[in-house]
Amino acid sequence: MKLPVYMDNHSTTPCDPRVVTAMLPYFTEKFGNAASRNHAFGWEAEEAVDQARKHIARLLNADAKEIVFTSGATESDNLALKGVVEMYKEKGDHIITCSTEHRAIIDSAKSLEKRGIRVTYLPVDKTGRVDPDDVRNAITDKTILISIMLANNEIGTIHPVNAIGSIAKEKGVLFHCDATQGVGKIPVDVQAMGVDLMSFTAHKLYGPKGIGALYVRRKAPRVRLVPMIDGGGHERGMRSGTLPVPLVVGFGKAIELCAQEMSTESVRMQGLRDHLQDGIMGALEEVYLNGHPTERLPGNLNVSFAYVEGEALLMGVKEIALSSGSACTSATLEPSYVLRALGVGSDLAHSSIRFGLGRFTTREEVDYTIDRMVKAVNHLRAMSPLYEMAKEGVDLKSVQWAAH
Ligand SMILES: *Cc1c(COP(=O)(O)O)cnc(C)c1O
Repeated sequence: MKLPVYMDNHSTTPCDPRVVTAMLPYFTEKFGNAASRNHAFGWEAEEAVDQARKHIARLLNADAKEIVFTSGATESDNLALKGVVEMYKEKGDHIITCSTEHRAIIDSAKSLEKRGIRVTYLPVDKTGRVDPDDVRNAITDKTILISIMLANNEIGTIHPVNAIGSIAKEKGVLFHCDATQGVGKIPVDVQAMGVDLMSFTAHKLYGPKGIGALYVRRKAPRVRLVPMIDGGGHERGMRSGTLPVPLVVGFGKAIELCAQEMSTESVRMQGLRDHLQDGIMGALEEVYLNGHPTERLPGNLNVSFAYVEGEALLMGVKEIALSSGSACTSATLEPSYVLRALGVGSDLAHSSIRFGLGRFTTREEVDYTIDRMVKAVNHLRAMSPLYEMAKEGVDLKSVQWAAH
């Protein structure tokens, strides 16, 4: 086993070597511009792009013409929200999203608020799910867009998107879904979900960084967008700019592999994840699961270790690449807004760790992770006066911390 162990597959995934192999010729001998209509170099590039688009569309049960390539899910999210609002602003000035969305959605919504758009940020229950009835009740005759993610990037919780999609349809409101964490990991069908726009990105599904896509429905209804980038009119006018053909080819190959391997891969991943969860929770007391017990991405585990600081824990297990829910990188020292939205207290939010398993995670790595985590938590707790007091039965809430 090689150290460090990578357990952060929600942040990014390694490129599958088969994806790299597929991309390589498109950097050198097959370097044409897919928009060059007059020669074989262009035709060859265009053919490769068409193939990739087909693979992507097939996995989503979409039409190839409905796939718009972007630089990644951040751009897709921005294009969906800002492009729809700009196009439909005569119809209404209200959008609905939820409090645990990725920053690419939350920050786009905040930017729209500055331009006078009203935004409803729906709450989630303690497992991280939006209630479809809350969506229904938030819709007014001024609502032009609903944006709810498929699966959360911190806690892995899967939202009831099919139910939300049918409410959107019934009310005649467009539905956008940030499906970045779900595509390639769990079945995604744009018809069953009733989505009109959907964001995703290659680097979360073993493809290259720097390419993503926005699915834009072409019929029932035909969705229109105001582009954010003007230029040569590529991507049916929705996103100008020369296509990065090697990245497009890699994206297509990565999706093709997901389509072939998802059913077996997700079972293996969930088996490893459950083993990790049982190993940690079986060996330690006061470990709390964040997210939904079952409606969750197969490779996700997010837990809080009471009486232990997440950042301190990460320092103690430097051989394992993980994320914590305390944002010591930010100036505010605010813990994860996602965990706070679930009602997780500030202490437990600061004690949270996200494990993200992936295609290349091995059983050996999981066993190593269990062993290291258990030892590190025991070590930190042994030094913690709070843990000592709690063990002695002192109710920490009743302690008068200030001496006078
Ligand atoms: C990673 C991620 C994004 C951003 O994707 P990029 O391609 O890195 O811009 C957006 N939404 C979710 C849910 C993500 O997990």
